[in-house]
Amino acid sequence: MKKSLNDIDVSGKKVLMRVDFNVPIENGIVKDDTRIKAALPSISYVREHGGRLILISHLGRPKGERRPEYSLHPVAVYLSKLLNTTVSFSSDTIGENPEKMADNLEAGDVLLLENTRFDKREKANDPEFAKSLAKLGDIFVNDAFGTAHRTHASTVGVAEYLPAVSGFLMDKELEALESATKNPEKPVVAIMGGAKVSDKLLVIENLMKFVDTIVIGGGMAFTFLKSKGMKIGNSLLEEDMVETAAKLLETAENKGVKIMLPVDVRLAKSINEPLIAYGAAAVIAADMIPEDTMALDIGPQTQKLITQEIESANTIFWNGPMGVFEKDCYAEGTMAVAEAILKRNCVTIIGGGDSIYALNMTKDKRELTIPANSHIHVSTGGGATFDYLGGKTLPGVKALNDK
Ligand code: AMP
Repeated sequence: MKKSLNDIDVSGKKVLMRVDFNVPIENGIVKDDTRIKAALPSISYVREHGGRLILISHLGRPKGERRPEYSLHPVAVYLSKLLNTTVSFSSDTIGENPEKMADNLEAGDVLLLENTRFDKREKANDPEFAKSLAKLGDIFVNDAFGTAHRTHASTVGVAEYLPAVSGFLMDKELEALESATKNPEKPVVAIMGGAKVSDKLLVIENLMKFVDTIVIGGGMAFTFLKSKGMKIGNSLLEEDMVETAAKLLETAENKGVKIMLPVDVRLAKSINEPLIAYGAAAVIAADMIPEDTMALDIGPQTQKLITQEIESANTIFWNGPMGVFEKDCYAEGTMAVAEAILKRNCVTIIGGGDSIYALNMTKDKRELTIPANSHIHVSTGGGATFDYLGGKTLPGVKALNDK
């Protein structure tokens, strides 16, 4: 177990907190504040307990250069409004200026530093840069679960020079992942979708250690179908993964893990042609895909089978859409999965931007909600969640002090 924010005394201390403020900003305006709000419990705790707060984060990919469009200044403005206090901003991330500003903070004050990635030493986990960051605080708190899979100066390096603990968002994310992966309540169902097998290979392999069923949908299903010798027309194919897919199917069989592939699909001539043009023929059995067509979503029969699987599950993992859900006519399969998950309401981990977007879309379009006290965990960290489910140790977590 790692030490957490409520295991330490922050009163009067300069608390250097790594948060994930990597939010979309357009013309200086914050467009989505989910990540900022997710950091509020730790921010409020430090302020209420008399800590002097120095926040650090990255934003986008400025490639080690100071680029105004990636400045965190709009976040300082936004956070000031959210907290109803002045959040001061340092346009330098390290050095004399922010050090002075940090020293002048009173209990409960908040300072945000400029984008850590304006300095190329951040991503290189450069020890001098990490030391300069450490000079700004007495204690380091890492609440940036979204970057816990990165070995950067502000996530790993700095923890060598200061007492280092986790923040509450980090705790919440890790607890949810642990409860779903260590002794999960069975049956456990993983639903994997999206475009590429290669991206999800590690996760699928690792999940096989403890899940009962893996549903494979989305574009990557066709590499699996092809590995079974089926004709897939022009559907998405990763030629160099066909053998790997065959091996995964064999491993699953040996382990007694059920793999569910689409039994029917929704077709089009190409990704840009509307489904409607095919009328009733748009839905076809997965082993009858004509040569000149692409399968762009799972079909109704597959939807029904997946829904049944979800209804009887006690633990669910979901990553990736079942089809080209960005277009209404191919969103049906993905929305059916989201709806079934919302209605089942058991221990569930949902990760990845597309799945979260699809979940919210389904909530809006079908007037569904995540019930209060729900066990559905919508993860804030795509890559970090993925690495965790792939069985990797997260360096940002490893770097923190043990209890
Ligand atoms: P990923 O980033 O690997 O999770 O892939 C997400 C993308 O996969 C989304 O943009 C979907 O549009 C796409 N996708 C899902 N199903 C299919 C499919 N059957 N054919 C082509 N693309 C798909």
